[in-house]
Amino acid sequence: MLNPSSLVHPLNDPSLAADLDRLFEITASKRDIVAFTGAGISTESGIPDYRGPNGVWATQNPPTLGDFRSNPETRREYWENRFERYPVLASTRPNEGHIALTRLRKAGLLSYVITQNIDGLHQDAGIEPDRVLELHGTAREVKCLDCDRRWDAESIHQRQADGDMAPGCEVCGGPLRAATVLFGEPLPNGAIESGLEISRQCDLMLAVGSSLIVQPAAKIPLVAKRAGAALAILNLSETPLDAVADLVVRGPAGIILKTLAHRLVP
Ligand code: NAD
Ligand code: ZN
Repeated sequence: MLNPSSLVHPLNDPSLAADLDRLFEITASKRDIVAFTGAGISTESGIPDYRGPNGVWATQNPPTLGDFRSNPETRREYWENRFERYPVLASTRPNEGHIALTRLRKAGLLSYVITQNIDGLHQDAGIEPDRVLELHGTAREVKCLDCDRRWDAESIHQRQADGDMAPGCEVCGGPLRAATVLFGEPLPNGAIESGLEISRQCDLMLAVGSSLIVQPAAKIPLVAKRAGAALAILNLSETPLDAVADLVVRGPAGIILKTLAHRLVP
């Protein structure tokens, strides 16, 4: 009798299985792999991506920096919303995609993860913090927009739980916000330069779960390719770099990375 789950399992799709063989062949000869990750690697942990129907963009309208600075009402709404969502952020766990990348890292095959994500899940999965380049900052920390001091998000959440629902900087009184990058805001100092440098040195870039359209981050896989690295794109939907990639694997990142890691590091 047919097992119904086998009908839908991605690895039972012959073309995906062939792509996985090809991914293994490309990866097996490489010694310096860099993963470039986007929101799609974290959807299997329950965090919506950016552009899907339930994506952050469709369901929330993040304030602009100018509005955030000038309008106390905007800050109050932001912090109330963050208070409600914090328990979800704090309880999210890495999935098998994050864990597979850590396996490659521990085997000495992966040198860096360059991520557009702000969720901290690569570090939770065991990649050393100095090997994760967060291009768009982190939601795990809160910063003062005036003096740039930082706190971990948990301590600010605790202040809210104690009744300070729109917390300000304890040192200078400036406005506090998650240490993430808003539209129109520059990336953290030196982040893109470091990302480009790392990408020029690797011999394989795995671009995982990214639409590859958010600039300047999306330059990174292209620069890696132009500098001589192989480029493999693992993503559910099309990207503008599919045509230049050595391989495109269209399927869920978790099972694809898990299978790859088990083959490379048995
Ligand atoms: P994006 O939403 O533009 O693209 C995500 C891509 O991942 C899509 O092309 C989608 O088809 C694909 N995808 C979704 N689930 C997948 C899965 N299970 N396996 C393989 N592919 C999958 O994301 P982006 O390119 O990272 O750009 C979005 C911006 O939003 C980034 O700047 C990021 O900072 C921010 N963001 C971060 C998070 C997070 O930290 N987890 C979540 C949402 C948005
Ligand atoms: Zn301050």
